[in-house]
Amino acid sequence: MNDPSSKSASPRNWRPATRLVHAGTSRSQFGETSEALFLTQGFVYDTAEAAEARFKGDEAGFIYSRFSNPTVAMFERRMAELEGAEAARATASGMAAVTAALVGQVKAGDHIVAAKALFGSCRYVIEELLPRFGVASTLVDGTDLDQWRAAVRPETKVFFLESPTNPTLEILDIAAIAAIARDAGASLVVDNVFATPMLQSPLELGATCVVYSATKHIDGQGRCLAGVILASEKFIADHIQTYLRQTGPSISPFNAWVMLKGIETLPLRVEKQVANAARVADVLAAHKAVERVIYPFRDDHPQAALARRQMKAGGTLVTFEVAGGKQGAFRVANALRVTRISNNLGDAKSLVTHPSTTTHQRFDEDQRLGMGIRQGMLRFSAGIEDADDLVEDFLQALDQA
Ligand SMILES: *Cc1c(COP(=O)(O)O)cnc(C)c1O
Repeated sequence: MNDPSSKSASPRNWRPATRLVHAGTSRSQFGETSEALFLTQGFVYDTAEAAEARFKGDEAGFIYSRFSNPTVAMFERRMAELEGAEAARATASGMAAVTAALVGQVKAGDHIVAAKALFGSCRYVIEELLPRFGVASTLVDGTDLDQWRAAVRPETKVFFLESPTNPTLEILDIAAIAAIARDAGASLVVDNVFATPMLQSPLELGATCVVYSATKHIDGQGRCLAGVILASEKFIADHIQTYLRQTGPSISPFNAWVMLKGIETLPLRVEKQVANAARVADVLAAHKAVERVIYPFRDDHPQAALARRQMKAGGTLVTFEVAGGKQGAFRVANALRVTRISNNLGDAKSLVTHPSTTTHQRFDEDQRLGMGIRQGMLRFSAGIEDADDLVEDFLQALDQA
């Protein structure tokens, strides 16, 4: 299972784009160029003694694909090298990764502090699922450091946040919140989907654990669901490994293979998506039908300085508000021709969604307004199309609306 060629150079010395193409590759005896897809549930042993040794851990090797699989292991190794983490574990979806990262750390009586502005399903895990097992939580305004400090209790075990947030693209100060967590004896889990591993490194900023929905930019071509958990070897061993093995949110080797190939082009895609997002943000801001544009690296973003400090670029998403509330937003979305309507993000195809009636439909209007989500708001996920086509499309849609 070990490829001697992968030991000839130290991937940590390579720059990210190089790691994404080569790191973690484990070639079979055939020396294939592209990563092999090991679509197998299990493995055979030459002798009963070999099976015994494998189970005892005396002999390295795979046992069962719920535990690990060569293709999945390549994807995990490549993600760990990219993120600069000691260890990675892949899961069937982003939500499986978030759930494992949280549930794996807590028991009845423990307490979690989380930012209010979270992906909807993450709020379900924290507000509805975990309380059924005696794990309490406090939701805070993530941008207010005093609220994080005030929420800490003796039994606080985990801080959880995402930044930039969905869909209002607020920036949370990861280094400052990590310091508060450390003082409280709690871990910090960061959902880094919106920033992508190319633009923000939460572990370097002091986070304990990073989770991804690889469904988004890492696949980047709208095919499979996947998730990843990245942390130290010790964190994975103490909190994640046994939970994943015994409860089984395992990723299919096929989906892991799709991700493995997808991440080879991640830097190219994210660079183009960022350029397209920044260009569209500027065009929207200059249009009279647009009341407000939110993009982290624009000077009019309230936390532009913090965004520049902790991110390498402004990201692939732009949120904007048009006049006329829901009707106005629907008119713009319906008039777009290149950008398609979808709640997904991070795809090669540009996508737009109306958060109030889709991703945040389950909240009432007061809760939505509390999160800064207004009826005239649209979230744009930049694809890799020619920027001129995206700009022309937005201009004709805004003019029509
Ligand atoms: C999509 C998403 C998730 C959930 O990921 P799935 O792969 O759909 O399960 C979690 N967090 C964020 C920020 C997301 O965008």
